[in-house]
Amino acid sequence: SDVCSSDLKNNLLSPKNSHEKYKDKDAYQSKDFKSKITLDDFQTVKVLGTGAFGKVSLVYNEELKRYFAMKALKKEYIKKYQQTKHTKEERKILETIDYPFISKLYYAFQTKKSLYMITEFMAGGEMFHHLHDCGHFDENRTRFYIAELVLAIDHLHKHNILYRDLKPENILLDEIGHIKLTDFGLSKIMNNIEKDKTYTVCGTPVYVAPEVLTGQGYDKLVDWWSLGVLLYEFLAGYSPYREAKNRVDIKIYKKKLKQDPLISNTAFDLINKLCQPNVRLRLGKNSKDIKNHKFFESIDWVKLEKKEITPPFKPKIRYQGDVRNFDKMFTDMPITSTLGTKEQLLNPSSTIKNTKNTYIDFTYIGDKIKK
Ligand code: ATP
Ligand code: MG
Repeated sequence: SDVCSSDLKNNLLSPKNSHEKYKDKDAYQSKDFKSKITLDDFQTVKVLGTGAFGKVSLVYNEELKRYFAMKALKKEYIKKYQQTKHTKEERKILETIDYPFISKLYYAFQTKKSLYMITEFMAGGEMFHHLHDCGHFDENRTRFYIAELVLAIDHLHKHNILYRDLKPENILLDEIGHIKLTDFGLSKIMNNIEKDKTYTVCGTPVYVAPEVLTGQGYDKLVDWWSLGVLLYEFLAGYSPYREAKNRVDIKIYKKKLKQDPLISNTAFDLINKLCQPNVRLRLGKNSKDIKNHKFFESIDWVKLEKKEITPPFKPKIRYQGDVRNFDKMFTDMPITSTLGTKEQLLNPSSTIKNTKNTYIDFTYIGDKIKK
């Protein structure tokens, strides 16, 4: 075990070479080190975010001299909201998938009360934060993010995983500006993603595909619909289905989209092919059809996957463990507070605002509509 820990120390990240971490990840992934990891090995520094069921904190490991993100899920809530299967799937997905644009699980452990998952700290923060900071992105920047997302979603589909929760809060930026998909809390592992349908009504109204709502059964094409919504939102600064925030009505998703002046004809063509309410006509049965769209003409997909394309924007980060790219609403929270957003929203005396897009009752997963 001495050899193991010295290996670990040699692989410490300095700010200068931190982008090299992928090469060294196996060292601190070693079974020997992993099996010993407990909650005591992590010092909580700040709260980074809370979602429907979890709370994510910035934590520090003294031995590795490294920051991580730690997602804590209370067993009590998981049970109460019938999330056991989803939590297990989330862990399994994070554990199995090893891809440049997908969050990777380093450690998982539990205490009597909670489950914990340790992933790499993405210091660039949420896409949500940057989008609202900038108002909207130019076409080049949008193309880069959407293209990396195409690769991430396609990779998940190739592993029979439906993502189902594509939205700006679940896309994080690393310190160089590459994206990483996080939050597999709504993902589903399918037997055969090319043939099987699923029926569970879940997602976020502004990004969800209409066939999820009607209960007719849906497949991987729901993720490509959400990508179309993101493409529109990145360029225009607002979602084409923002009305769904207040009232979910199937008509909202069927109307003809308005071409915002910030959206080029080529981009708008792709948006309409992805946000196509008729599933049979939607682009994405074969991901090549998306990659080959004119909007991505300038993208070298091989280079992109190797992270050889320099991101158009580098997040401002001053030191390791810098949380400036995270919402103050979270980073100012006392680290001892253990409530997740969901519980806070259900608590009438809570002052936490639901500024994000999660529609609580909708995000609840049930199998009520299953046929
Ligand atoms: P669920 O919907 O399954 O309950 P959640 O929304 O509570 O999940 P996540 O989406 O995984 O949980 O994380 C919540 C927020 O925490 C993210 O939107 C992001 O701001 C922050 N976060 C999560 N993972 C990381 C990470 N690896 N690095 C930095 N910040 C992270
Ligand atoms: Mg989330």
